[in-house]
Amino acid sequence: MKPSILQNHTLFTNSTLGGAERYWFGFNGKENITEVSGWQDYGERFYNTNIARFFSPDPIIVYGQEYPWYSPYQFAGNKPIWAIDLDGLEESYYYETLSTYRAFSFINNTARKTTLGKQFDITLKAQNKIDVFYFPISRKSSKEGMVIMFSSFNDYLEKKYYQGDGPMLTYDFELLDDKKIEEMFNKSNGKPIIFIGINQGRLATMDYYLKNKQVKEAKAVHKDVSETIIHEETAHAINHLKGKRLSNEEGHKKYFGESRPYSPTFNQLLNDDKYKGTDGQKTAVEIDTDVNQTDY
Ligand SMILES: [Zn+2]
Repeated sequence: MKPSILQNHTLFTNSTLGGAERYWFGFNGKENITEVSGWQDYGERFYNTNIARFFSPDPIIVYGQEYPWYSPYQFAGNKPIWAIDLDGLEESYYYETLSTYRAFSFINNTARKTTLGKQFDITLKAQNKIDVFYFPISRKSSKEGMVIMFSSFNDYLEKKYYQGDGPMLTYDFELLDDKKIEEMFNKSNGKPIIFIGINQGRLATMDYYLKNKQVKEAKAVHKDVSETIIHEETAHAINHLKGKRLSNEEGHKKYFGESRPYSPTFNQLLNDDKYKGTDGQKTAVEIDTDVNQTDY
């Protein structure tokens, strides 16, 4: 049974978390993270494990001295530039906090060049019913990437701050300035907006590696996050654009060829024969090639 405020939503209704019909966004997790850390896998992309990993080897702490928003209590969300149009996609908006990371332009560049990335852009442009917004998920969030569609600003507010047995997006969305989101909904003329989130911790980590000329490490994050973007677009967001209501697992079945609660690692996706011929592996191959040729 869905909480009452969610009765009329038109989004994903299946859940990988607790079996309740209350999570209607897409997300995925990397298996190695939960395995390595020993954190229990609750069936979603638990970024907490990454944070734990970040905090012990220390780059984020060091990095945090340069980037005040790394303090859990200070955020960059109060100064977004609105509707930055990075790719001539009028329908897509990028949040300033994403483009403040040097990593993001590399990651997004690679993602946009993939077959599925191009396909997503075409599908997005071909319709005029839904807008897309890319945003930074708080590093306090459990999610590495996520997709959720809001029908209106009120819908956004209700779900962001809903305190009951609901989606609990407050942490995920804490970098978002509600006034700016309201502005965006006003500009979208009543259209619903698909939010595609990327955990800013990944971007910060890649920036750290870039800064320290750790190219191999930077490329590993680059590949991983580029794939995350395509995954979120192709396994989840595009279904909204096409008006299909797929559960998280159904989206994954489409993308990975198997119904799984969260993602394999990039290298598993790239190398494992069981993903042969799937959207996931094709994308991983394209990303791998592109990133291997990238000079930072
Ligand atoms: Zn997913």
